[in-house]
Amino acid sequence: MTASLLEFAIPGVQALRPYAPGKPLSELEREYGITDAVKLASNENPLGPSRTVLNALQKGFDELARYPDSNGFELKSVLAERHGVSPDWITLGNGSNDVLELVARAFLSPQSSAVFSAHAFAVYPIVTQAIGARSRVAAAHNGSRGPLFGHDLDAMRAQIKADTRVIFIANPNNPTGTWLSRDILHAFIEGVPHDVIVVVDEAYFEYVEEADYPDTSEWLNEFPNLLVTRTFSKAYGLASLRIGYGISHPVLADVLNRVRQPFNVNSFAQLAACAALDDKEHLRRSIEVNRNGMAQLTAGFIDLTLPYIPSVGNFVSLDVGRDPGEVYEALLHECVIVRPVDNYGMPGYLRISVGLEDENRCCLEALGKVLA
Ligand code: PMP
Repeated sequence: MTASLLEFAIPGVQALRPYAPGKPLSELEREYGITDAVKLASNENPLGPSRTVLNALQKGFDELARYPDSNGFELKSVLAERHGVSPDWITLGNGSNDVLELVARAFLSPQSSAVFSAHAFAVYPIVTQAIGARSRVAAAHNGSRGPLFGHDLDAMRAQIKADTRVIFIANPNNPTGTWLSRDILHAFIEGVPHDVIVVVDEAYFEYVEEADYPDTSEWLNEFPNLLVTRTFSKAYGLASLRIGYGISHPVLADVLNRVRQPFNVNSFAQLAACAALDDKEHLRRSIEVNRNGMAQLTAGFIDLTLPYIPSVGNFVSLDVGRDPGEVYEALLHECVIVRPVDNYGMPGYLRISVGLEDENRCCLEALGKVLA
């Protein structure tokens, strides 16, 4: 009886495979009866939030019985100032994931399509299919004209059809860690029809140190159809609070606001985000830990002769040369949680988030042992 209820869901939802998150530490520890596991599976900040954030959170307790500020006045003001826009250019989300979903709900329908790359972040196909819209998936680079598995913008351009309403671009992309340079991305957006929304997902923006990496929020005056998304889940260390945002022309922000849940961002998240933006030293340290950790991990992969995709994020995908599911399971027995990414069309690949020095060492040792 209940199984047949699935038939009443809209066709897109019937065929939907839910997002597969990284295994929570508490689950591994419960299942294996251990207490000191290492989780390098969800691209979180291994330093956690800053002390400033923890202090700011205290204020939230006084307001616990009140609904949060639906319009996020304080946070939008701070973000607007940073981006040199007015607050009506900002859309706050319950994680940047929420903003991606708002775009799909506001602009897609069963009669339209979204374009994105193969091996792109898993939420793009999910939000598209949940609406019943069509996913037009562009083949990624094969390594000859651009980085292996990286977005191929020529292939993406070729996928834009009359029914296309949204394009999702991850820069850098998860799980590949590949990125697009300023000139290439600018030229691509210039060529996109004005009635197609271009979402540039910059969840890992703060980590990227390449000179050619663009801050696309600087292009918003030029492209009214551009939406840039950012998050506090990664470099700012606030993943559990669920807060991210979009920046776009106010007309586009107004459309997103129409489908937004009234209180989508809780008070603690708003307080924490404001405080996190203030603590530049913590951000600097987070970036430094990531830079060092990435060097440590990739040096370890070279020692183990494991090919990896050079990444500008806080994670790196590597080819373990065998069933990554088995390696993942074996690593769990060594108390290390990573993420198999074969479901991203990358058979043989595991993704490892950059952790603290000890966590990275532990992961490399476990990997060496498991693959020996
Ligand atoms: N975009 C990309 C590319 C991501 O990897 C993630 C998180 N894994 C998100 C968006 C969403 O993150 P959040 O909802 O925590 O902001």
